[in-house]
Amino acid sequence: MSEWDLTRPCVRNLTPYVPGKPIEEVQREFGLTDIVKLASNENPLGPSPKAVQAIREAAAEVRLYPDNDCYQLRKALSAHLNMPGDQILLGHGSDELIHNIGLALVNPGDEVMMCVGPFSQYEFTAKLMDATPVWVPMKDFRYDVEAMARRLSEKTKVVFIGSPNNPTGTIVTKAELGRFMGAVSGGTAVVLDEAYYEYVEDPEYPDSLELVRGGGNVIVLRTFSKIYALAGLRIGYGITTPGLATALERVREPFNVSSLAQAAAAASLADPEQVTRTRALNRESRAYFYRELDRLGLRYPMSHSNFVWVDAGRDCRGVFVELLKRGVIVRTGDIFGAPTHIRVTTGTAEQNRRFVAALEQVLRSVAA
Ligand code: PMP
Repeated sequence: MSEWDLTRPCVRNLTPYVPGKPIEEVQREFGLTDIVKLASNENPLGPSPKAVQAIREAAAEVRLYPDNDCYQLRKALSAHLNMPGDQILLGHGSDELIHNIGLALVNPGDEVMMCVGPFSQYEFTAKLMDATPVWVPMKDFRYDVEAMARRLSEKTKVVFIGSPNNPTGTIVTKAELGRFMGAVSGGTAVVLDEAYYEYVEDPEYPDSLELVRGGGNVIVLRTFSKIYALAGLRIGYGITTPGLATALERVREPFNVSSLAQAAAAASLADPEQVTRTRALNRESRAYFYRELDRLGLRYPMSHSNFVWVDAGRDCRGVFVELLKRGVIVRTGDIFGAPTHIRVTTGTAEQNRRFVAALEQVLRSVAA
């Protein structure tokens, strides 16, 4: 008997997470020094100086375990969101909360619904729990909520909706979500993954906390990794009903959020300027990308996030490697099942120009 035989069959079938390529790896492989990473939807402006100061101060106390209840941060989030503290979940990244949703709610054989080609952790969690992933195709890069509603069954335990969706950047509108929620039974939990929430400026975007207040089986996920630029600290949060919060708390590991992360996140909430600044830069960057992509004749859906999903019209791996040679890291669409797409994160004005200049060259060198 090999070690592999000891492994649960559903674990043997898992596909490991594919992260964005790290800057240092590209430096080593290509002998380049000046790298632009637009691959992981990070914030090019970095965190609030208040967060950095809070990390410095918290560093003096790292010999101690963190506060298991995240008291100060929970209080700050409760005020920020106008939600009771015991309905707030904290995780080392919203990734951990997605994992915990699986652990707490999903039995083997349950169905877990998601769109085709989503952020990989939805599928990962479903498979880890030996559940059956149910993929519903998108329509024009948007969730097809009518089709999703038709696929609901008494076995549907969890539905994952990314809004803005990674990798397409599209949102589910208030009207669409309302219709979908009307079709969901009490035996199904709906996860609204709002990792890019703070970037959305569309008045049609739903107020998901209203659904939680209304008592629906809804879990809203947000993160400090994206607009707050604390990806390296790993901290995300969720907002849900008291009952689901109790269930998710039960499967949480002790001390799951580090003291540095707790301090930095709380300080970030006290600096709305950092968010405003980032949102403004992102708006300009997206407009710049759209103008340039139009000029290059490439197609993309309008993004409500800090990345754009571009059909490069040729093998995305070829485009990716040629961009790497020019010091620009993006994400390939093949991992999302879209072999001619790339996903590019908005950067600083200079980084955006570097990407466009490199892409223009690459489109000439990689055959369509
Ligand atoms: N959800 C979506 C849609 C994401 O794109 C990401 C990050 N790639 C996450 C969740 C996880 O974010 P984190 O664990 O850093 O909070």
